[in-house]
Amino acid sequence: MTFDDLGLSDAVRGAVKQAGYSTPTPIQAQAIPQILERRDVLGIAQTGTGKTAAFTLPMLTMLETGRARARMPRTLIVEPTRELAAQVEEAFAKYGVNHKLSVALLIGGVSFGDQDLKISRGADVLIATPGRLLDHVERGKLLLSGVELLVIDEADRMLDMGFIPDIERICKLVPFTRQTLFFTATMPPEIQRLTGQFLHNPVRVEVTRPATTASTIMQTLVPSSDRDYEKRETLRQLLNSPELKNAIIFCNRKRSVVELHRSLMRHNFSVAALHGDMDQPSRMRALDSFRQGTIKFLVASDVAARGLDIPAVSHVFNFDVPHHAEDYVHRIGRTGRAGLEGTAITLVAPADAKSLDAIEKLIGKPIAWSGSPVKAAATPTDTGSNSAKPRKAHAERPRSRASSRRAGASASQVSAKKPAARVAPEREVAPRHEPSPHARPAAPSRRSHEAEPAVVGLGDHVPSFLLRPVRTGG
Ligand code: AMP
Repeated sequence: MTFDDLGLSDAVRGAVKQAGYSTPTPIQAQAIPQILERRDVLGIAQTGTGKTAAFTLPMLTMLETGRARARMPRTLIVEPTRELAAQVEEAFAKYGVNHKLSVALLIGGVSFGDQDLKISRGADVLIATPGRLLDHVERGKLLLSGVELLVIDEADRMLDMGFIPDIERICKLVPFTRQTLFFTATMPPEIQRLTGQFLHNPVRVEVTRPATTASTIMQTLVPSSDRDYEKRETLRQLLNSPELKNAIIFCNRKRSVVELHRSLMRHNFSVAALHGDMDQPSRMRALDSFRQGTIKFLVASDVAARGLDIPAVSHVFNFDVPHHAEDYVHRIGRTGRAGLEGTAITLVAPADAKSLDAIEKLIGKPIAWSGSPVKAAATPTDTGSNSAKPRKAHAERPRSRASSRRAGASASQVSAKKPAARVAPEREVAPRHEPSPHARPAAPSRRSHEAEPAVVGLGDHVPSFLLRPVRTGG
C-alpha cells in the first residue's frame, strides 16, 4: 500500500513525499480511509506508531473545502500536555506546507492575548490542552459549536492526569453530529465508558502495542545504593562511557530531577532538565537544545517526557526504577527507535526489588545485571521501620485555574480516583483542573496503634463531630 491509495488530496500527498515517507504505517493505512469517510474512529495506538499523521493528513484533506469563522474553530484536537500539543502543531506545519490553514495552539503557561487574537481571526485547527481550552470558553471568547471534527489524543494519559471530567465537558460543548477520533494506548474501564458515550458507531483500529521492548534496545541493570549521592556517583561513571552519544535520564520525582540536574551541572555535564513545574518557554528551550544536540543529557520526569518524539537517543538511564512497569516500557522506548540501536540502563537499589519484579513480568523476561544483583531490601513490615516508606505525596499539586469553584479540588479527591497502590511518592501528577462531581474526599483512616510512634494530639483519631458535613454559605 502507498499513500496514493488512501484517498488523500494531491496537496497532502505532496507534503508526505516532502517529509520523506513512502509507506503508510499500519495505523495510517487503516484509519485514514475511514476518517475520510467521516466515520468515528477509536484508535488504539501509542506514540511512535505514526498516529499523529494518521489524523493530521485526512484532516488537512477535509479542511481544503470551507472556511473558518471568527471564534468558531472548525476542528479541535485535545492533547494532555503542552509538549504534545506543540508537537501536533509542528505536524500541521510539516504536513500542511501546501495549505493555507490557520492553526491555533491553546496551551497553559503562555499569555492569553496572542491566543485570543488567533481565535478571533478564525481557526481551521485548534490544538489545545483541556484546562486552557475551557478557560477560553469560560471567558466567552471561544465557541465550540462550529467544531466539525474532534480529536481526543492520548486519552489514557488524560485519565492518569485527572482530565476526564474536562474531556466530558468538552465533548458536550461540541455539536452532537461532529466526527470524533479518539486515540488511546490502553482501554481501562473509564476510557471504555467514555468511548461508549461519545463515539458513534466507531471503527476500531488497533495496532500492536510494544508491550514488550524493542529488540534493538540493550537493557542492563546496574546495582546501586539507596542513597542519592551514591547513586549520582554511579550514574556519573556511566555517563562518561565513550559510546554514549546522548541520553535521557529519568527520575520518578520532579524534586529528584531538579537535584540531579543541579548535581550534573556542578560536575560540568552538558545537561538540561524537563519536569512539569517548569514554565513553558523553559520546557521548550530544554527540549530544543536536546533535540539539536546543543546539550548531551536531559534529566526528565515521566509526565514531562512521555510521548515526546525525540529521535536518535543513544542511551536511556533510569536513575530511579519507575513505580509503574508501563513507564519502564515508555521510558526505554525513547531509544532504539526507527531500527537504531539503543541502550537502556537502570540503577537498581535494594528498595526497588518489587518494582523491578513487576517490570520483568510485564516485558516477559529478566533483564541482565552488570555486576551482582542487589539484594531486596527488607520491607517496613519486616523490620517495623519506617525508613523505606514512601514519603507523603506532596506531588505536583494541580495548578488550579483562577475560578473559585476549584476550591474543593483537594488532594484527597485526586487520590480518591486512583487506587492507593498507584499513588507514587511525590510522583509528578499533572494539573487536575476540575474535581469530578463523583469524586468524594477519602474516608479518614484509622490505623492500628500497634508498633507505632507515640500519638501526638489527636493522632489519626478524628472525632465524629468533625466528620459531619459542613454547610458553607454561597
Ligand atoms: P507519532 O506516532 O505520530 O508520534 O510518529 C512517530 C514518528 O514517525 C514521527 O517522527 C513521524 O514523523 C514518523 N512517521 C509518521 N508517519 C510515518 C511514515 N509513514 N513513514 C515513516 N515515518 C513516519
